[in-house]
Amino acid sequence: MTVTVGVLALQGDVREHVHALTAVGATAVPVRRESELDAVDALVLPGGESTTMDKLLRAFDLFEPVRTRLRGGMPAYGSCAGMILLADRVLGSIEGQQTLGGVDVTVRRNAFGRQVESFETDLDIEGVDGSVHGVFIRAPWVEEVGPAATVLGRVESGPAAGRIVAVRQGALLVTSFHPEVTGDTRVHQLFVQIVRDTL
Ligand code: GLN
Repeated sequence: MTVTVGVLALQGDVREHVHALTAVGATAVPVRRESELDAVDALVLPGGESTTMDKLLRAFDLFEPVRTRLRGGMPAYGSCAGMILLADRVLGSIEGQQTLGGVDVTVRRNAFGRQVESFETDLDIEGVDGSVHGVFIRAPWVEEVGPAATVLGRVESGPAAGRIVAVRQGALLVTSFHPEVTGDTRVHQLFVQIVRDTL
């Protein structure tokens, strides 16, 4: 089955997600307007800057339409800033920052602190065979997970050991890290499988 996955294309690493999705057999299309959103089975919210994407979602009249699709069960995957956008609650947000929500977690923006603002580490992610190289860039972590959400992965060592960095809730997947920048498409494969299973 061919699935059409949109990538929210207001800001951030859109092209990298389009590449990864295409590599795992999905039809990937940028989404900047409501008519484009209407045409996709699922949506990726890329890494970038959540505060900017939040403002642009509203400026492009996409905030409510995306939220409505999410509430209607549209599968979505958010990496880094996209994780923040899909979180029900955010710590360290700027004034007025909103999220689309959907995943029953509390995330902390820019959580890893200055010394480890950007780092890379290997991770075990449930649903992916073998270890995944996690690239973290001013990333959030998940501080609290509600009963509806399932932890898929944590940082294994170093100062942030134990921190939750991958969560799934139904057809919603979020990661603190950016698989789209590594050339490893297994997390996208997992997401596209979730999309196929949902349709
Ligand atoms: N710090 C960014 C934010 O708060 C996320 C960084 C990223 O996506 N690489 O949105």
